[in-house]
Amino acid sequence: MRYADYKMSHEEVIIKINSLRSEINFHNHRYYIEDDPEISDRDYDLMMRNLIRLESEYPELITADSPTQRVGAKPQTDFSEVAHRIPLLSLGNSFNDEEFESWYKKTISTLNLNDTELSCELKIDGLAVSLLYENGVFVQGATRGNGTTGEDITLNLKTINSIPLKLIGNYPRTLEVRGEVYFPKSHFIDFNNARKEKGLKEYANPRNTAAGSLRQLNASVTAERPLDIFIYGYGWSEGSHYAFENHFDSLIYLKSLGFKINKSNFLARNIAEAKDFYQRWVDERHNIDYECDGIVFKINDLQMQEILGSIGREPRWAIAYKFPADRTETQLLDIKVNVGRTGSINPYAILSPINLGGVTIKQATLHNEEYIKSKDLRIGDWVYVERAGEVIPQVIGSNISKRTGKEINFSMPEKCPSCLHATTKNPDEAALYCTNISCPAQMVRLIEHFISKAAMDIDGMGGKTGISLIENNLIKNISDIYNLKKEDLVELERMGDKSSDNLISAIEASKNRNLSNLIFGLGIKHVGSEIADILSNHFEHIDKLINASIEELEEIDLIGPQISKSIVDYFNIPENQFIISTMKKYGVNVRHIKNTTPENMGILENKRFVITGKLDNFSRSEITKIIKDLGGAITSKVSAQTDYLIVGIDPGSKLQQATQLEIPIINESDFLLLIKPVK
Ligand code: NAD
Repeated sequence: MRYADYKMSHEEVIIKINSLRSEINFHNHRYYIEDDPEISDRDYDLMMRNLIRLESEYPELITADSPTQRVGAKPQTDFSEVAHRIPLLSLGNSFNDEEFESWYKKTISTLNLNDTELSCELKIDGLAVSLLYENGVFVQGATRGNGTTGEDITLNLKTINSIPLKLIGNYPRTLEVRGEVYFPKSHFIDFNNARKEKGLKEYANPRNTAAGSLRQLNASVTAERPLDIFIYGYGWSEGSHYAFENHFDSLIYLKSLGFKINKSNFLARNIAEAKDFYQRWVDERHNIDYECDGIVFKINDLQMQEILGSIGREPRWAIAYKFPADRTETQLLDIKVNVGRTGSINPYAILSPINLGGVTIKQATLHNEEYIKSKDLRIGDWVYVERAGEVIPQVIGSNISKRTGKEINFSMPEKCPSCLHATTKNPDEAALYCTNISCPAQMVRLIEHFISKAAMDIDGMGGKTGISLIENNLIKNISDIYNLKKEDLVELERMGDKSSDNLISAIEASKNRNLSNLIFGLGIKHVGSEIADILSNHFEHIDKLINASIEELEEIDLIGPQISKSIVDYFNIPENQFIISTMKKYGVNVRHIKNTTPENMGILENKRFVITGKLDNFSRSEITKIIKDLGGAITSKVSAQTDYLIVGIDPGSKLQQATQLEIPIINESDFLLLIKPVK
């Protein structure tokens, strides 16, 4: 029996549908919330198609929460929510002429027409937003979110120059328009390189960069990014406006109000003209400064659009005809592996250099052993390499017809290429790991990560300095960083007196980073900076995180079983606990530093503090920052104007002075109560 003939039992269909749904939900979260997709759009689209097909065969199994019925993902809680009066929908896809023609035929037959006009628009690969204007003034901007509820990102959108803050011409009293925010291609590579240098995670493609840039909590960060927008749709309006009967005219009208409309928009009189337009842009898209992953075709007549309505997450009156991915063929010369900071052994392809979409490609990630097996890739194979909206190239398969029989199957190394320790595999993970905690390759990566900007931000310790510290046995784990002495550093190659001093001060300053930086810096598998923030906020002290159980972790929003297990596994290793306690001993901050919150903002206004003795949980600069952030001041001498004396271990004469002047004397716990009043 051929595989295609195999008919799944009803139980198997249910299992398959459920597994597809949970996989798609997982990737939706990575794509829409974390802006960090793990798989290519093509693989995602295939999964979605599979689910749609099964659900159309078994409509009784369709549920309202199936990803086929919903757009995007639940909005993030960091922004306030905006309810969309008219939902922002997704689009149905077609991948070839046949599918596009079949959509067109079905649509005109529903409308009882022989032909109809189609608005042809480039499908910009960015982030859909809705813009609301009252009396011509931009008052609110939101993401599409899950289609009915988005995130309020007004301040961030105001930083985009091409979004008019005030409309011109004959605008209605209230107007909502839709458009796509994008990140220009020309800036993408430089932008990502700068992130890499700062130790920040690189974005996979311009689309995710646009989304990540727009959903910054601090609008000044968005303002630094070169975002742009095209408006492609009239949402709704109240109060008089220019009357139009078709979509194309509505765009011309929006242009007259000051919106940026794509100049390439074209009105096709029939499907033949529409197909010509598509063909023209298959190649032409490489010459524009934004990613464009297809053409959107919309029935032009608005009355017809209303008749057609929508189904699930897609309007019936529009379709996206996706472009074929940029693909080329080249030879897989070798497969090599490197060791990641969490010990993962990562295979990558060495390719015969080839030009793809203007970029020379010599290497590509192969993810893990399962990926290589599932694609049956062999060394010596001719392989297909793609960049489908992805700037990072993917090896997507091999050209079996070109095999000579001399190709070699690849197997993952049984020993770590760096320390020769045996490699192991977790049954529920695809990656192979080197579990030797003192593996030098891991240590180099871990140190690079620990000192990066998003973690402990220690300037001057990257690259060769880090490697030579390890080679000279000055650092065996990350806590050793805090035991470095100037005498050790000046001995190293390329380290003068001045740079040693600078490095020592940078290390000292890093002791005051927030707990979230430290958690992120530890390099726990699956714990990125966002998750580290969540953990820092939740536990407020490293000891509480160390003692947290899997169940406790899983109760936290966005922390799933995989992350919880990874955290518990990490702290179960005695060496890791030792590293933390050593860092504590050296004075590294292990508490969550909460600066101003709406509840405590200005709570220390006009209050003067003096500190005496060594504090247990705060460094001096840390507590100074908190007091200042909350409106208070720190002085060095006790006087009648002092409001509080904070007393630590081994207090000095200030304690006596404060007692004489009857100034309230508090310890660290009292201070915490003071800044975080009990509700
Ligand atoms: P979509 O991007 O396929 O199409 C809908 C969107 O197109 C609209 O919301 C709008 O933002 C945009 N658009 C651009 N130009 C437009 C124009 N001229 N007129 C109208 N709309 C225009 O759909 P989606 O729901 O945003 O995303 C689904 C796609 O995202 C998938 O097909 C997949 O490719 C990708 N995705 C990938 C992953 C992954 O893990 N790789 C995960 C989720 C989604």
